[in-house]
Amino acid sequence: MTNSPAPEYSAERFDVAIIGGGAAGLSAAIALGRSLRRVIVIDAGRQRNLPAHDAHNILGREGIAPADLIAAGRSEAVGYGVTLADDAVSGARRDDAGFSLDLVSGAVVAARRILLATGLIDELPAIDGLSAGWGQTVLHCPYCHGWEVRGQRIGVIATGPMAEHQALLFGRLSDQVTVFDHGDVVGAEARARLGAMGIAVVGGLVERVLADGPRVQAVVVGGRDHAVDAVVVGTRMHARAEVFEQLGGEVTEHPLGSFIETDPTGRTALDGVWAAGNVRDLSAMVGAASGHGVFAGAAINADLVDADVREALASAVH
Ligand SMILES: Cc1cc2nc3c(=O)[nH]c(=O)nc-3n(C[C@H](O)[C@H](O)[C@H](O)COP(=O)(O)OP(=O)(O)OC[C@H]3O[C@@H](n4cnc5c(N)ncnc54)[C@H](O)[C@@H]3O)c2cc1C
Repeated sequence: MTNSPAPEYSAERFDVAIIGGGAAGLSAAIALGRSLRRVIVIDAGRQRNLPAHDAHNILGREGIAPADLIAAGRSEAVGYGVTLADDAVSGARRDDAGFSLDLVSGAVVAARRILLATGLIDELPAIDGLSAGWGQTVLHCPYCHGWEVRGQRIGVIATGPMAEHQALLFGRLSDQVTVFDHGDVVGAEARARLGAMGIAVVGGLVERVLADGPRVQAVVVGGRDHAVDAVVVGTRMHARAEVFEQLGGEVTEHPLGSFIETDPTGRTALDGVWAAGNVRDLSAMVGAASGHGVFAGAAINADLVDADVREALASAVH
């Protein structure tokens, strides 16, 4: 907690507090701001794709740097009167009029509804040498980075159920794909399918990945170096759900990690709490996360309109 004076927004009750200012949170903020809702976005600034140089499959902004996309979204949100707080939510509770959020800075934010747009944490396989290249030459997604490594030597480190799928997708982009069956997860049928597509499988534990800074150079198995230009891994994806859990919610387990279950609009099992983006859909890329945000923003606005009508009817009766 700091000793600086409380920010102005501590005195205000917002219609919506959005926790997380990535594609999902900022898209929701714009939809709500355009409906003249009082909105605050509280963001700790750790969007998932920041380690990558460029973001792809972004219509109209193809190849934009992730930080530039966020900066543009923030400025668009501010243009509609949205308040931005560069801070993190550390605690949450219900009160008579909605929710009260404690921020790491010591500020307190009050809001009628909450949107969780907190994203997820990628847990990399525990292999020496992998993490330095994450997002640059250590990759997970053929749509995000595949074009950039087309034709190159690509090593897929198999640790889970997605490995064969990843190898086949990267196999469309290069005829130099090798699967390293670190987790002993590639069965006979999968080997046959991969073999039919010209993809070799190397058995045995990966001892380490050799790299020069963020550039991977080789995958080491059984003391032998296999030269590569890029490595593909499957991460375990954990929803950032601390606030949801503090409010009494429970995450749903998934073969690839965990997520917050919602209805199609993003409404969670907790009254007044919505979720959008990777926190509710582990597979959502930027476009999908943004779509979730707009949809949740519209659903929250409709929910607030309903509440306003109920309140107006009740006060007309008295
Ligand atoms: C390396 C890499 C490259 C990728 N490349 C692409 C690509 O090229 N194209 C593409 O479409 N997708 C790409 N993706 C996927 C993309 O990152 C996600 O689709 C997108 O980030 C999801 O947006 P989001 O808003 O749900 O979450 P995020 O962008 O992760 O934003 C969540 C935000 O919430 C904040 N937050 C979390 N908890 C709190 C809290 N308690 N208080 C305050 N703030 C909090 C975080 O700090 C973060 O800023 C890539 C992913 C990775 C890992």
